Amino acid sequence: MKIEAHLTVKKTKEHRSVIKIANNIECGGDALFIAAGPCAVETLSQMESVVKALPLGIIQALRGSVYKPRTSPYSFQGLAEEGFNILAQIKKISHLPIVTEVMSCQQVANAAIYADILQIGSRNMQNFELLKTVGQSNKPILLKRGLSATIEEFILAAEYIISHGNPNVILCERGIRSYDTYTRNVLDLGAVVALRQLTHLPVIVDPSHAAGKRELVPDLARAAIACGADGLIIECHPKPELSVSDARQALSLEDMLTLINSLDSIAKAVGRRLTNQLTANVPNALSIYSEPNCLKV
Ligand code: PEP
Ligand code: MN
Repeated sequence: MKIEAHLTVKKTKEHRSVIKIANNIECGGDALFIAAGPCAVETLSQMESVVKALPLGIIQALRGSVYKPRTSPYSFQGLAEEGFNILAQIKKISHLPIVTEVMSCQQVANAAIYADILQIGSRNMQNFELLKTVGQSNKPILLKRGLSATIEEFILAAEYIISHGNPNVILCERGIRSYDTYTRNVLDLGAVVALRQLTHLPVIVDPSHAAGKRELVPDLARAAIACGADGLIIECHPKPELSVSDARQALSLEDMLTLINSLDSIAKAVGRRLTNQLTANVPNALSIYSEPNCLKV
């Protein structure tokens, strides 16, 4: 296949971009980049519970959106500005980089004040004006694959962002539409391997939106790391069944911790590691909250 792309394309087999997210936090290096958190920001106490339970040296970003692209206009649309205040407070106590979605060009400048990574959701992968706008941002962009986007379309969407000035693009495979509705989408791990062969960009996997069912998420996450993904973004919630959005796929915080613990040996088997020492030394909520978590790695 001849793809009309050049900025995203690998120049040599070894060519890989490592994207700096924050002090000592990178995506695309030997250490896996793991982002976790709820689908949507709901309350401060919800976000506090998440950062209190998770191993902040291993988790390298906190996800939580305040603008939600919902299929129905009657579903919860996100807390907007109020959500940003919560994200600002949670960042103060956890020191974790924040990943949050932008849905329109008008939201980008304000979101960039609070976020460390701007997410372009699947439904906006080909919103070309939005791609051009985040191309002018200095924040790393997490670009999710469109619901029915081909690999070529996905790469060209990344090419839009880079050609408008922002080289810091992380690709995210999150499942594509198919005829089978048992899972919400079909996780295309073939695309992960192909994208890592074709491009120098980091490729992470979102098993939550791919599966749509929490009981499928841990095995898919492990499979993603085994096939070379540079990281994961996973939805979890203190009370998964009460999530205001995507409740069926949210992991409990306990299950999230178990999943993280299980990734270490898989990471090592494919020449990666779960975190780097420097990241583990970043001051985090573990030094604020006295309760130790039960991380085994
Ligand atoms: C999300 O991350 O919550 C989301 C809406 O994802 P996607 O755009 O992949 O559906
Ligand atoms: Mn979601």
